[in-house]
Amino acid sequence: MSDDETPASEIPSYHAVGIGAGPANLSLAALFSSATTERFALFERQPRPSWHDQLLHPGVRMQTSWLKDLVSLVDPRHELTFLNYLVTTGRMFALLNSQFDVIPRLEYVRYLAWAAGKLPNIFYNTDVDQISLGDDGFTVSSGGRKLARCDHLVIGVGTAPVIPPELAGLPSGRAFIADELTGNLEAMAADLDAPVAVVGSGQTGIEATMKLLQRGFTDITWLGRRLWFDTIDDSPCANDVYRPAHMVALQRISLPIRRQVITRLNPTGDALTPGAMRGLYQANYDRMLVLDRFPVTLCPGREVVASAVQGDDIVLTCRTPGHGQVYRARYVVIATGRENLPVPFDPDLRERVELAEDGELVVEPDFSVRWKGMNGHQIYALNRARMTHGLTDANVTLLPVRAAIVLNSMFQREIFPIRDELGPVDWG
Ligand SMILES: Cc1cc2nc3c(=O)[nH]c(=O)nc-3n(C[C@H](O)[C@H](O)[C@H](O)COP(=O)(O)OP(=O)(O)OC[C@H]3O[C@@H](n4cnc5c(N)ncnc54)[C@H](O)[C@@H]3O)c2cc1C
Repeated sequence: MSDDETPASEIPSYHAVGIGAGPANLSLAALFSSATTERFALFERQPRPSWHDQLLHPGVRMQTSWLKDLVSLVDPRHELTFLNYLVTTGRMFALLNSQFDVIPRLEYVRYLAWAAGKLPNIFYNTDVDQISLGDDGFTVSSGGRKLARCDHLVIGVGTAPVIPPELAGLPSGRAFIADELTGNLEAMAADLDAPVAVVGSGQTGIEATMKLLQRGFTDITWLGRRLWFDTIDDSPCANDVYRPAHMVALQRISLPIRRQVITRLNPTGDALTPGAMRGLYQANYDRMLVLDRFPVTLCPGREVVASAVQGDDIVLTCRTPGHGQVYRARYVVIATGRENLPVPFDPDLRERVELAEDGELVVEPDFSVRWKGMNGHQIYALNRARMTHGLTDANVTLLPVRAAIVLNSMFQREIFPIRDELGPVDWG
């Protein structure tokens, strides 16, 4: 009998299934496990717990407070708090005394792996490639094998890096995404004076630039499209955007205006960590004292509009506010952003799901997806609704709050109260 013909009674059944075991679905799994005895499973394509592992360069830091772990904002007595991780793994005093402003990203990854290890039914090495709808809910499959049946789905598939058309088609060993820098570094280091360009002014761009500088490269050009290399606005009022009260306030605004508001709020989150910028400036200065010139040149306001190979060089043509400019580099590191991964709905389910103008799922305030033929079955989507739910829906700052909203909706009762009344800002 082929796997495809597995009798329904032999397919494991769950109340809900999450696709992807990144921080968003891990938070959901953690709260699910403390809220109910129903069964929940996560399927993850990676072979083990991981979180942007290819970008874990030495010294990189979180952009988010350690208090914003998988559970604490909603359930601080949960077993899977970051604090419990520190105490039970014996690193509490060492971490405290290291006086980090924000914790190393590697520590967060270790915490995620620790938490994942304590949760039931997380299946790794499992690439979900089909989700279909039957009479009794959803069936989730991989490689033709039916893995699970469930009443509800939670999509947490995350994002993947994008190579823009202007940088597509360059030789792969010479131009690559930042995730591939570590793998290429030793070959590149045969000539530390080779010119290297980093394209993209976000956190991934600065971390790639820093890594090249630390490895000893002496001619690094960092190109950013924005007019300046913005650092995150970490002021108290800017941080009030990352609160449940602001999420609720956004839902009161019409969609077109909401989009404008969210775009204008970008500097509160979609920018560089000030500590990383200070680190880069100081390391650049230190090397300048040795080389007599700065090894890193920051080039804001440069939008790469074309690229081509000319002999040993990759030629990058840039548009600038004043005039065009051309840069030559031996290697190009591409850090120009990420896009949502597709959800593997089968054709029937894809047909039923409502899409917005930008092709994205339409996500309701409770993170449920709008689709036809629900019949009591819900699909929830995490981290896919930035332009409707605000900047918190693209990062890890409010993970437990979002998970709690989903669970309250899934079980149709207030399992986790979400209180956020005490604040000085009236969002209108
Ligand atoms: C380098 C880096 C650093 C960041 N640092 C911060 C920070 O400090 N603070 C902050 O708030 N935000 C940060 N962000 C943003 C943050 O990563 C994301 O918001 C967060 O990872 C989203 O979590 P997620 O669980 O939705 O998605 P992901 O973390 O992307 O997890 C999704 C998971 O789904 C799996 N998957 C995808 N498709 C399938 C499939 N079909 N079948 C099975 N599994 C699948 C993937 O393998 C992946 O493990 C950072 C982003 C990057 C790239």
